[in-house]
Amino acid sequence: SDKLVEVKHLKKYFDMGKGKQLKAVDDVSFHILRGETFGLVGESGCGKSTTGRTMMRLYQRTAGQVLLDGEDVHQLGKKERLRLTKRSQMIFQDPYASLNPRSTIAEILSEPMDVHSLYEGTKRKARIHELLDIVGLSPDHANRYPHEFSGGQRQRIGIARALSVDPEFIIADEPISALDVSVQAQVVNLMKALQKERELTYLFIAHDLSMVKHISDRIGVMYLGHLVELTSSKELYRTPLHPYTQALLSAIPIPDPEIEDKRERIILKGEIPSPVDPPSGCVFRTRCPAAIEICAQHKPEWKEIDDHHYVACHLLNKEKPMRKEKAMAVH
Ligand code: SF4
Ligand code: MG
Repeated sequence: SDKLVEVKHLKKYFDMGKGKQLKAVDDVSFHILRGETFGLVGESGCGKSTTGRTMMRLYQRTAGQVLLDGEDVHQLGKKERLRLTKRSQMIFQDPYASLNPRSTIAEILSEPMDVHSLYEGTKRKARIHELLDIVGLSPDHANRYPHEFSGGQRQRIGIARALSVDPEFIIADEPISALDVSVQAQVVNLMKALQKERELTYLFIAHDLSMVKHISDRIGVMYLGHLVELTSSKELYRTPLHPYTQALLSAIPIPDPEIEDKRERIILKGEIPSPVDPPSGCVFRTRCPAAIEICAQHKPEWKEIDDHHYVACHLLNKEKPMRKEKAMAVH
């Protein structure tokens, strides 16, 4: 199948005691095609990291499935689980916290290879040099410690560590959010080049739509544990249909100074509600500028509004297309 990863009705609830549950991920479904980059976007606390971690089985799921090449990763035994971790690796947001300060770069890169008994003995040193070279660092750095590197360099080390076991699928959880703007593009470009060379498939998690624009083939937008919109990157920027996506996009400046930005900035009222006590009906309704009566009563269905363009919103359906009026022109 073209689908390397399938997430089906995934739920991850955390027990908060006293019969309360934090619904971090609440019935999320999407797939990732082989070789593509799927961007997962939303404000902090929307459940995007929890989705990624549950896909890696760092968290047990509450319900639903995560399939890698058709295999349910939450059903795997110990041995198969090891096979899974070789095929999928993770890159973390904070390149400071995710590298052990007391280990040398060589030790950090060796760890996953030790787990999987790869590149052992005399091959190890050459492999470490190769990995450093792949991410644009000098092999001389192998015996240094993380604190000797800049944020961008540390993220390169994080990427090298993920690549050390030759994975097919990489979940990058806000890999550039903690970096200086000047370094962000370099890391994205490196990830893109590596993807091409190695036929990697990415799940790229970000809190800002501008960060995923240039790397994602398709994008899913999350709000309070739910996917609210999913389509190709191009389509999402051109024709955002969900009121939440429209608000997120309105906050992004148009990069071309020649174009006068005439768009109206959509300011969302209020705060994100608690996922312990989410609103009835549509979870976005307490902040939605377009909410109508039905929004408080019924959860909007996840529907394909246009080819490969999915939205969960009562204002949108195939019979009564509102997209022309509702859509905001965005470059
Ligand atoms: Fe807004 Fe209602 Fe659509 Fe939810 S279903 S996004 S509240 S209009
Ligand atoms: Mg996060």
